Order: sequence, then structure tokens, then C-alpha cells
Amino acid sequence: CSAVAQVIYLNGEFVSKEDAKVSVYDHGFLYGDGIFEGIRIYNGNIFKCKEHLDRLYDSAKSIMLNIDLTPAEMEAAMAETIRRNGLKDGYIRLVVSRGPGNLGLDPNRCPKSNVIIIVEQLAIYKDEDYENGLKVVSVSTRRNIPDALNPKIKSLNYLNNILVKIQANLAGVGEALMLNSQGYVTEGSGDNIFIIKNGVLTTPPSYLGALEGITRAAIMELCGKLGYTVKEEPFALHDVYVADEVFLTGTAAEVIAVQQVDGRTIGAGKAGPITTHLLKEFRKIVEIDGVKVSYE
Ligand code: PMP
Repeated sequence: CSAVAQVIYLNGEFVSKEDAKVSVYDHGFLYGDGIFEGIRIYNGNIFKCKEHLDRLYDSAKSIMLNIDLTPAEMEAAMAETIRRNGLKDGYIRLVVSRGPGNLGLDPNRCPKSNVIIIVEQLAIYKDEDYENGLKVVSVSTRRNIPDALNPKIKSLNYLNNILVKIQANLAGVGEALMLNSQGYVTEGSGDNIFIIKNGVLTTPPSYLGALEGITRAAIMELCGKLGYTVKEEPFALHDVYVADEVFLTGTAAEVIAVQQVDGRTIGAGKAGPITTHLLKEFRKIVEIDGVKVSYE
């Protein structure tokens, strides 16, 4: 894989990393006006490809962003980018920005959106992180309220999440929990959250203000198959502190246990039995559930 030079899809062309450039007048750059997806490829399988494309096109519709490609064409472009990079396992970043306009906000001045596909090897957590779990803190930065910018839209406006990441960095931890304006737990800076108490899993309902994560949905589906009860209900930090197990889900993080929250040790302070079971079962579906890339 490393012998193949990285190529990036840019509006129908395949260009080198050095040549993958867009205008400084792109409203994605000037205003965060655009959307994106992060997708995993596992042994040549684009995991949950349809779900990611559905979320991308729903986000586009919601912000009235035109994508020149149909979902089928987007899928083909993704597969071609993966093939040209010779990658079997990695991460796909799909970006659609409003495109170049003038310095005003008006998207009507941006005649053509930019479509970018980057595939890369993924720097992921170490095996011991999955076994030991992460230390996290809660932060003062509140989640965007859904009636301002709905977190279901996976927009390029990630400043809210970046402010959380800055607070996590200052606290010396890798991830942090965001509450909403009413003090309910919503999600991490880039992951959804589940807590487990007495064998029952709970995740915040998306109306509280969280991205509807595709890994979250996959875990809820797995819970159904494996006979675990999973509820979508609001909960507070107290419920996180006293949970038997806590884990985060996301495309990059997969299913990762939380060891400590705000100095409170969760359960036995390492990945608990249900988290471990779900991670194991999750890793069984990642090469099957999705769209296979042909490398011919
Ligand atoms: N919440 C936020 C804010 C995220 O950026 C992500 C990563 N896309 C997630 C949750 C997890 O979503 P998914 O499982 O679809 O990657």
C-alpha cells in the first residue's frame, strides 16, 4: 500500500496531495459552509456505505447544497479513489463545500460546489486503549442547540466540537463529554455515548442535540440481535458517573470503553463485559456490512 502515491479526488479529477487545492473564496473555507462524511474501509469493504451517503445527501438537502454527483456516482468515485490508492483498510473523508463565491455570505454567489474525496491510512487507538478505556472529562462548552444549527447536519462548521477538543487538551485527555443547554449529556467531540446500568444500555436521544452516528445505529442494531435492551433516554452526568460501563462510538473510534469521567472511575476501571462483547461483535460485521470495492 505505501508504494502507491496518494491521489485525491477533486471534482472528477485525480490529483496528487500537492495539487489538491481549492480557492480561498470557497465558502467552506470562509464560512464553514459545506458538509462532510468520515467513513471506514475494512478489508476492501466500505462499511455502511449507504448509511453514510444517505446522511451526506440529507445534510446537503437540509442546507440546500447542490451536489453534482448522484449517490451512485459518489459511491463509484469513492471506490475509484480507494482503488487508485491501493488501500484495503483506511479512512475516507468525503467533503462537499459550497464552492467559491465572493466575500459575502450569500450561497447564491457560489455557482459550483466542490467535491473532495481523501482516503488515508488511519491512526487509530491502540489495543490497550480498547482494554483499559479512555479517561474523559466533561467540559463547559455546550452542544449547539438543535434549533440553531441542527447537529444532525454533518456540516463543516465544527467549531463547537473544536472548542470541546481544546478543553479536552487542556485537561490532558483525548476526548470530552458535551452537555446540552439543559445539562443533559449529548456526545463527545467526535463520538456518541452509551452508558450501561444493570445490563441496560442507554444513549441520549438525538433530539437532545447529537449527531445521529452510524456506529451508534449499528450498535443499537447489534444490541437488538444480541438480546441487550437499549433505550434512547436523556441522562445527566451523575448517571454517567454511577454507570457500570460507559463507551463511546464513532467511525474512527469504533466502540471504545471509558475508564474514568471527571475523576470518577467507571465500574472496574477497564472495558466491561458488555462493551467488550459489543466491540467483538461489531468487528465481525465491519467487513461484511457495506459495499465491496473491486480492485481489478
Ligand atoms: N458525533 C460527532 C460530533 C461526530 O463528529 C461523529 C463522527 N462522525 C460521531 C458523533 C460519530 O458518528 P459516526 O458513528 O457516524 O462516525
